[in-house]
Amino acid sequence: MPASLVIIGGGLSGLAAAIRFARFNPNVLILEQHSRIGGLNSYYYRNNRLFETGLHAITNFASPGDKRAPLNRLFRQLKLKRDLFDFHEQIESEIIFTGNTSLRFSNDFDLLRSEIETAFPSAGPDFDRLLSLINEYDPFAPRPFVSARQILGEYLNNPLLVDMLLCPLMYYGSSVINDMDLGQFVIMFRAIFQEGMFRPGGTIKDLLDVLLASYQNYGGKIRLKSSVSRILRKGNKVVGVELDSGEVINCEFVISTIGYEETLALYGESIPVTENTQPRLGFMESIFEVPVTALPPASSNRTIIFFNQGSRFLYQPPENVVHFASGVICFPSHFQDLPLPATAEIRTTHLANYQLWHDLSQDRSTYLAAKLAARATSRKTVEEIIGQFSSHILYEDTFTPLTIERYTGKKEGAIYGRPEKIKNGVIGHENLFLAGTDQGFLGIVGSMLSGVSMVNQHILPKI
Ligand SMILES: Cc1cc2nc3c(=O)[nH]c(=O)nc-3n(C[C@H](O)[C@H](O)[C@H](O)COP(=O)(O)OP(=O)(O)OC[C@H]3O[C@@H](n4cnc5c(N)ncnc54)[C@H](O)[C@@H]3O)c2cc1C
Repeated sequence: MPASLVIIGGGLSGLAAAIRFARFNPNVLILEQHSRIGGLNSYYYRNNRLFETGLHAITNFASPGDKRAPLNRLFRQLKLKRDLFDFHEQIESEIIFTGNTSLRFSNDFDLLRSEIETAFPSAGPDFDRLLSLINEYDPFAPRPFVSARQILGEYLNNPLLVDMLLCPLMYYGSSVINDMDLGQFVIMFRAIFQEGMFRPGGTIKDLLDVLLASYQNYGGKIRLKSSVSRILRKGNKVVGVELDSGEVINCEFVISTIGYEETLALYGESIPVTENTQPRLGFMESIFEVPVTALPPASSNRTIIFFNQGSRFLYQPPENVVHFASGVICFPSHFQDLPLPATAEIRTTHLANYQLWHDLSQDRSTYLAAKLAARATSRKTVEEIIGQFSSHILYEDTFTPLTIERYTGKKEGAIYGRPEKIKNGVIGHENLFLAGTDQGFLGIVGSMLSGVSMVNQHILPKI
């Protein structure tokens, strides 16, 4: 019997789409190329310890009673109980820019508002006008690209404040160079500043295990180490998929979560590169594990620090392998009421240049040496901001855009995919739809909502 639905990719959007569909019809199959689920947000083991590959914090925090909040809608759609997850809110995060201008924020939006009043005394009324726009804007209405940077410039008339507000939102959810679509800005502003950040008490593996168990309880099936090499079509209808092994699986519907161009490649199409093609944004992420007692004291009440040491905040592929002047510093053990572990992590993120890393990788020892050097510079840069920890490092690791490409199949290792999003998920076939990163919702909650909404909009009405 053919599968009713095949989902290509066992990342968070694929898992969420699969659970949503399996609630109504268990004849659904997830095909995941890797030996583990989770995609960009997965885990690995070193020295008998589990390390998360992606998780800094989950955005879109909501209290259980807030029925309309995206997080609670997601739980309802998946019929999952929130208390399965033991959520912990962030302590406090901070945006630190050149000249020590700082804005702290937490899950209490008033903190950001009062910080802006202190650091930018004349900006209060302008910021309130911007808030009105954000509160009234429908980010899901179809519209052409509107530059968030331009709108912020018009409302705030203060380049430093504009850069400081954009920095966390871009690092956590923009695939566009030095800008964001206004709709995406509104989504991310609500998700990060107005709703806030949190994490589960356990690891990402615990969260993924709950999702998988729920899916399998409905009767859904998953196959790991099963890479889809071709999407099989008759006219504009998909009839099945072929695996690397040559096995063919027939199906009625396909949801692909692997990216638009990556999906096109599975039926032999591509998008020509033109002078207007924007490069994708790559990142370098490092993990430093230290005894919890060695975390710099200045960081004890910080969950995430977004920083920029340049004269302007540049969100673009760097000229060198990595742009160290800006970045993110995350303390995954610094969430409210989270028991402190014996060893803790400091994670750092910077923009990285895929092509230069690719060139270096032609010679493995050169590539590894560059990784070591980049990690050392990252460490030195963040030590200037948070204080020393180098002499206590127990384990350290670095992912370049190449690492991400290798493990997730994401083109150029671009976490946020293509700059252009396909918000309705329709890519020219009556039964093939896109979900996840290139559909337009980013991050963990965003990608899961993407999977759910593509099933709701395109598939459930037809079964
Ligand atoms: C370093 C890092 C830090 C991050 N930090 C955060 C954070 O703190 N908070 C947050 O909310 N988000 C974070 N993210 C982003 C978040 O992980 C992603 O937005 C989200 O997980 C995307 O999910 P997805 O399902 O759309 O895509 P993916 O996770 O990319 O899933 C796609 C899946 O498809 C599989 N696949 C690809 N090709 C094939 C094929 N041909 N056949 C079968 N399977 C295939 C891949 O292996 C992958 O498992 C981070 C990401 C990274 C990399």
